[in-house]
Parts: sequence; structure tokens; C-alpha cells
Amino acid sequence: MTLIAGGVVLVQSETTFEIISKIEVRLLFRRMARMTRRSWAITVPFLVLIGATSNAQVDHRRAHANWIDQYREPAARLIGEATGSTFAWQRLALLTDTIGNRFSGTPALDRAIQWAVGEMKRDGLENVHTETVTVPRWVRGAESAEIVSPAPHPIVMLGLGDSVGTPPGGLEADVLVVHGFEDLDARAAQARGRIVLFNVPFTNYGETVRFRSAGPSRAARHGAVAMLIRAVGPPGLRTPHTGALQYSADVAQIPAAAIATEDADRLQRMSDRGDRVVVRLRMEAHFEPDVESANVVGEIRGRERPDEVVVVSGHLDSWDVGAGATDDGGGCVVTWEAVRLMKKLNLRPRRTVRVVLWTNEENGGRGGLAYRDQHRAELGKHVLMLESDSGVFRPLGFGFSGSDSARETVQTIATLLSGIAADQISTGGGGADIGPSVQEARIAAMSLEVDGSKYFLIHHTPADTVDKIDPVEMAKCAATVAVMAYVVADLPNRL
Ligand SMILES: [Zn+2]
Repeated sequence: MTLIAGGVVLVQSETTFEIISKIEVRLLFRRMARMTRRSWAITVPFLVLIGATSNAQVDHRRAHANWIDQYREPAARLIGEATGSTFAWQRLALLTDTIGNRFSGTPALDRAIQWAVGEMKRDGLENVHTETVTVPRWVRGAESAEIVSPAPHPIVMLGLGDSVGTPPGGLEADVLVVHGFEDLDARAAQARGRIVLFNVPFTNYGETVRFRSAGPSRAARHGAVAMLIRAVGPPGLRTPHTGALQYSADVAQIPAAAIATEDADRLQRMSDRGDRVVVRLRMEAHFEPDVESANVVGEIRGRERPDEVVVVSGHLDSWDVGAGATDDGGGCVVTWEAVRLMKKLNLRPRRTVRVVLWTNEENGGRGGLAYRDQHRAELGKHVLMLESDSGVFRPLGFGFSGSDSARETVQTIATLLSGIAADQISTGGGGADIGPSVQEARIAAMSLEVDGSKYFLIHHTPADTVDKIDPVEMAKCAATVAVMAYVVADLPNRL
């Protein structure tokens, strides 16, 4: 029998993706993932059974079934070992409690790198080492904002990454509240000498984050002296969300900060009443000279083709608020777990599985760029690169970018994860750190996909702490990555 989807072509072509910024890459993956889920939802009810079963097809299916059968036992062992303990969550809790957040260029990130090297060695991983990366050093410094008029109120704020500071004594100016770029352009004459507030409610990350990225320079172009943005996230409990901005080269750089949604709403109400609204902003933000950091690498060497590599990864750096638990300590630990579990169960695949903990994803992406440059000669031997950077909540499966035949293979592998309901393969796999290597050598790319309903509530906030993560869901994420990485690394034929 042949299954044909009525009128809908299910094969989606893979396009070379261009990295505009890590944010847009993430957005693209999420959009594509959503698109796929929708197209399946529409398509599946129209499945039509046509054609008779031929012997050749039966033989083909049997061969297919045999192929995956040999992996049922190791997959069950990996899933059992991962979900039989809270090891992954405990490791993440230890990292985030004893070291905390890990911003690029800080001693905390250095400590985390040394800790990871020591722990990987204790796990028995092979070829454990660091690879030096030069990273930018942005320093937040002291910062504050307050409403001066019509009534004094403190504002809960976080300066945006890469922002310049205010003059030492701070700056004070009238506030112009706008609701988007068009609104700003329409009221350009009122922006001069003011603090522009982009008060745009969160819809999804991609739509809203552009005001954080481009807002400061758009406001500066019209003569604004500073920019505030309603925090890029759903309403929390007075939670500001930091994140990087991108100044345009041809316009003055003005200080920029995110404020909690409650504070944005208050400024909006004051402005709507026709009051003159004055805010004072102080920020010491500045850059210091670049410093040395490192990617952390550990492996389980392949038993037959050790020069062929499957990379699993997360980024060890975080923003300088919260504890960097969801973004992205969890991604580091679950991908690292994949290799630790194989080692513990004495499962040595045909090819090498390499865990990479990236540095500087949040404010530079230099870890991913350095890996591409340092491993250029062996990128052609990379079979698959996987990144987990969307949280370690209930796993759904993976986003995947690669050839159609490779997609078919990983879809079959994913059936081994149906018992923990993590067997979806959607389009658009990748990540900010694997991106440079994946693009250069056209390597198949994967992202761990999870229930994303909580992610943007805590993203880049002081609330990114380990208590938001469920140990059982995290263990399932580790199992999901472990099974996929192991089987891809062990396949008789390269993916
Ligand atoms: Zn991240």
C-alpha cells in the first residue's frame, strides 16, 4: 500500500539559511516548526489509501524494519538510564547554584568552563579539552530608571546588551510612547531630545524582538537621547528581559534598556492622560577589551570511524542575570548527558560523538565562529550537528535540516522515542552556534524541540533559575538526544 497525502506535497525543500542574527535564526526555526505541525494537522485527515501492495515494497519495508530493530535494545537502555534518575537536573542545579550566571568575559564563565572540563573527565569522556576563543567583554555596571514626573516611581529595568551608558550623572528627558516603527516615523518631530519608549505588547519573539534589536538606532535617527522597550516576553511579575541590541553604523549610539510590562503600562497611562512624563535613566554600561574564553569539548570516540563526528551541543555562557538555567545550562547538560549515558552503558558507536559547550552565544556568537575556523579541515567529516537552545521542557522531538534521505532516516530513528512522545521530526533544524559550521560545510543540522509555552516568560530574565525546570522532563530531553545521537553515530551508512 502507498500512503498519499491528498493534494499536499509533504516534502519540504531545504534551503541554505542565512544567518542575519541568532535571534532571527531561532525565529525561523520556530516558524518552520510551527508550519510543519500545521501542515500535518491539515494533511493527515485527507490521507488516502491507494494502490496494491507489491512484493518489492514488502521486502523494502522488511529491510527497513530490520535496520531499526537492532537499535531497540540500546535505545531502551539509554532511555531507562536517563529517566531512571534525576542526574541531569542535579548537575544543572549544581552548576547554577555554585557558579550561577555565566556572562562572556566573567570569572564565573571561566569557572564553569573549568568545572565542565573536570566533570567530563570524571564521567570518563575522552579527548576532553578546551578550545580558546576571544570574546567581547560588555559590562553592565550600575543602572537604574525612575519616573520623575508626574509622580515619582522606580522602574524595573535591565540595560540591553551592547548598549552604551548614559553620562555619569544619568540623563533626564520627556518620554515619547510609540507603538511601533511606523508610529515612531509618523511622530518623528516629537522624538528629538526625548526618551522613546517602544510599548509593543509581546506577540511572538520574532515580531517583538525587532524593536529591541533595531529600536535604539531607529529612535536615535530622529534625535532621541535614549530608548526604552517594553520587555520582550509575555507579562510576568514585573520581569524585565535583557538581550542584545544592534546599533546601525551611521547613527549616534544612545543608551537602551528594557522595562517591565507593568512599568510600560504605567508610562502609557500617564502619557494617555496628557501628562508631561519625565524619566531619569542612569547606566554605566560599557565595553572593555576582548578577553580569552573557550569552548569545552568532550567525546566518546567512534569504534570504527572515529574521524567521522556527530556533534551535540549547548551554550555554556548566559546573560548576566538569573542563573542561565533554561538559557542554556539545560541545553549543555542534556547534550553532555547523551555522551555520559553512552559511556556509562558501555555503548560505543561506530563514529565519534562530540559534545561541545559553546562560549559567547548571547553577545557575539564567537564560539560557533571559532569552531568553524578551528575545525575547517574536518567539517566535511561532520555527519550531523545538533544544538539544544530552546529549553529542556517536555521534549517533542527535533527540528531537522538536511537531505530528504537523511530526513527519512532520522524519522525512522525517532520512532524509537515514541514511548516518551518525543518522536516528531519537523523542518528547520539548527542553532546559532552550529550555524557557521553547518552553513559552510552544508552539514545536516538538528535542534531539540520542546514544549515552548514557558520559554519566553523566563528568557533573559532574573527568573531563569533551575526551579522552572522539571527533573523528569529534563531526563526525557537527555534520553531524546542520547538515542538520536547514538543511532546516527552508529548507522552502517553515513547519514
Ligand atoms: Zn540560548
